[in-house]
Amino acid sequence: MNNGQANSFVLADPEKCIGCKACEVACFAVHNRENGVGAAAGTVSVPVIPRLYVIRTDSFMMPVQCRHCENAPCAEACPVSAIRQKDGAIQVDEARCIGCKSCAIACPFGAISLFRAYSGGSEYKNRHLKKRQDTTLERKTRIIAYKCDLCRGATPPEEREESGDKSGDESGERTPWCVSVCPEEALTLMTPVKEMNARLAAVRRL
Ligand code: SF4
Ligand code: SF4
Repeated sequence: MNNGQANSFVLADPEKCIGCKACEVACFAVHNRENGVGAAAGTVSVPVIPRLYVIRTDSFMMPVQCRHCENAPCAEACPVSAIRQKDGAIQVDEARCIGCKSCAIACPFGAISLFRAYSGGSEYKNRHLKKRQDTTLERKTRIIAYKCDLCRGATPPEEREESGDKSGDESGERTPWCVSVCPEEALTLMTPVKEMNARLAAVRRL
């Protein structure tokens, strides 16, 4: 945790990224244990919905994800206070989200996406009704905002929990799963306090 200091965030190196999407799959897996798809890359009923996305252009590819802004525009824009700073990360309270998209518009990095919500392995329906083409009514699927939570709300693989693995920085902050699985080490957990201390130490050595 950040002990009241600046939020950590995951930084991608486009020079190293090969676009394999292992980070996307790992992100989905550790955030969907309750949907029974944690060991699979999605199912027919629950598609892969990661909280970071690998973007490709003609000249580079790299994952884009949240910077956990100190003055988060997404949180400012949310009309129902569904986005808050918690445990050193900017997190969406998915139960509060009304799917209005204000956060996605406000984010300067394109780090928020809105998709269907899933619970217990199937689409999570809300109470609102919509009309089918045959004029019968059905309950509408909830749409919610998804974004990186630095794996604060994730359930990592059991073997990692059992081993007490808190690999990451010296503050004991758990390394996000996308960082752990990247085969090219293209993702780094940036911890501002740690970075600052390292620079101060380097300056003192001059
Ligand atoms: S989602 Fe966007 S605006 Fe919100 S904290 Fe992350 S980078 Fe900042
Ligand atoms: S989509 Fe959800 S989290 Fe985003 S601003 Fe609207 S209510 Fe808030």
